[in-house]
Amino acid sequence: MSHSVTPVGFVRSCFKEKFAIPRQPQLAPAARGVLELVPPFDNGDAVQGLEQVSHVWLLFLFHQALESTPRLKVRPPRLGGNKAMGVFATRATHRPNGIGQSVVKLDQVEPGRLHLSGIDLLDGTPVLDIKPYVPYADQVADAANGIASAAPLLIQVSWSETGLQQAHEHALRLGEPLVALIEQCLAQDPRPAYQVPSPERVYGARFWDVDVRWHYPQAGVICVQQVQAAN
Ligand code: SAM
Repeated sequence: MSHSVTPVGFVRSCFKEKFAIPRQPQLAPAARGVLELVPPFDNGDAVQGLEQVSHVWLLFLFHQALESTPRLKVRPPRLGGNKAMGVFATRATHRPNGIGQSVVKLDQVEPGRLHLSGIDLLDGTPVLDIKPYVPYADQVADAANGIASAAPLLIQVSWSETGLQQAHEHALRLGEPLVALIEQCLAQDPRPAYQVPSPERVYGARFWDVDVRWHYPQAGVICVQQVQAAN
């Protein structure tokens, strides 16, 4: 049986590229975005009652990782990218039907727009459905996962004087918690696990409309060098 699905909306996200997006929601509470609903769901009727809900499940399409050939095994970045696991044992983006799911904080509800935080979604992500988080059913007190038993370890994020000043200026202009966003995302150490960073190597990612550049002055420490308007 095949059945086609149509997005109910699209996410306008702080994340403009895949690199440096946290691997799961909630890891960067300062990661904000707006889910813009499309007709007919942009009518206030569709979200009536949602103002009583603190978190929602989003079911979405990994639109930048869609593949036509199904994979049975994947190599999750969390395991260093060199260990293959059954696709259904992981939350990897390459999966049958390309469907992702995230629990995110619902900060504000307007007709046609949901303001979200703690997201792990790329800008433009098509959302297929929205469901309220139901604590009594969705919280599993004795749940266990031997592959992903705890949140990733955080590394230290420091700033160059210039980088921090630039980040504060852009944060003011954007009206967004940009410094916290950068710190929370980089503390996850977005670098591929197999890459040993040399102090000279510069990494970068775009958040909102700024390009952030950082390097690793020593193992386990990130220094943000520049936060500049993207071209
Ligand atoms: N929480 C979701 C889940 O479990 O289904 C996503 C987990 S997945 C491991 C998270 C990664 O998906 C992010 O780090 C980001 O790089 C990637 N991602 C987010 N939105 C995407 C999109 N629309 N298309 C492709 N990749 C995306």
